[in-house]
Amino acid sequence: MFRAILLEQVDSAFRASLQQLEDTALDGQEGDVLVRVEYSTLNYKDGLAIANRSPVVRKWPMVAGIDFAGLVESSGHPQWKAGDRVVSNGWGAGEVHWGGLAERAKVPGDWLVRLPEAISTRQAAAIGTAGYTAMLCVMMLERHGLAPGGEVLVTGAAGGVGSVAVALLAHLGHRVVASTGRPQEADYLQALGAAELIERSALATAGRALQKERWNGVVDVVGSTTLANACAQTRYRGVVAACGLAGAMDFPASVAPFILRGVKLIGVDSVMCPSDDRRTAWERLARELDPALLERMAAEISLAEALEWAPRLLDGAVRGRLVVDVAR
Ligand code: NDP
Repeated sequence: MFRAILLEQVDSAFRASLQQLEDTALDGQEGDVLVRVEYSTLNYKDGLAIANRSPVVRKWPMVAGIDFAGLVESSGHPQWKAGDRVVSNGWGAGEVHWGGLAERAKVPGDWLVRLPEAISTRQAAAIGTAGYTAMLCVMMLERHGLAPGGEVLVTGAAGGVGSVAVALLAHLGHRVVASTGRPQEADYLQALGAAELIERSALATAGRALQKERWNGVVDVVGSTTLANACAQTRYRGVVAACGLAGAMDFPASVAPFILRGVKLIGVDSVMCPSDDRRTAWERLARELDPALLERMAAEISLAEALEWAPRLLDGAVRGRLVVDVAR
């Protein structure tokens, strides 16, 4: 038997609960590697799925959890053997394939990334899909020309992606400006490396198509008017990484920054990201994310508590990252 957060549609009513499942329940899942999950996490998308606020789940019943870290228990995949330490992010886990908010997960071996020596399974969960996405954003900014020394804007800075992005970009020598709706988290954001805070509302109302040039780069998790303003304030040939919709999914923008300033708007997707970039992201996280700062970002909850924390996460009430110890 193993415990899991199960999402069901019972008589067309949604239900999320902690359940004991038979090991054979995993037989229906595609995959050649069985993983004993040690830690999972609560990401924004998990919040949407567990609170049933958005159609994240496309097969029922579903075990929630878009990511997990743990030990390979058995493997039919040539790359993996029992005892290997692995992490999995996305690929449809928790959406179309049973996910990681469970004591066991069965997935195709190609989905897994070997954890670097320096990262424990708990740290991998503290980073989670949010932190790995923050690193993908950094990689995309660099790939499109961002160099250290100038100002970089991070929106939704006190959240999961934002916290890791602030720490990484500060470490890499950028002057990080953190946009947040939570001024009470100033000490936290400064400890992560933010040089300056701006109030979230400063980016939330529609502005001119071209505004005063400020940012060499942007990591945006908010979308909508915030993203449009961020583009309008980006310097000539600067680069904006868009990865989130914590504000909204629309994009009420002008093409002016792109055609008059050569601003580059880069979309970042963690779910179907190719394995090479995943491995690079995790290797870089092992080297470039200070473990003491990571610990500062992380709070730990039990599997059952994931149910009650899901709506709070969506309401912006979680600082940093939530690690789920699936054994308790
Ligand atoms: P969190 O909930 O941890 O953080 C989101 C942050 O956004 C909040 O902490 C808050 O920051 C800010 N925020 C929340 N609501 C609003 C609002 N209405 N208007 C403006 N700002 C708001 O989520 P994550 O960091 O884990 O994820 C952030 C976004 O990135 C989500 O939309 C998620 O779906 C997306 N994402 C995308 C991925 C991809 O592959 N493209 C992968 C991972 C995440 P503050 O209090 O500091 O203002």
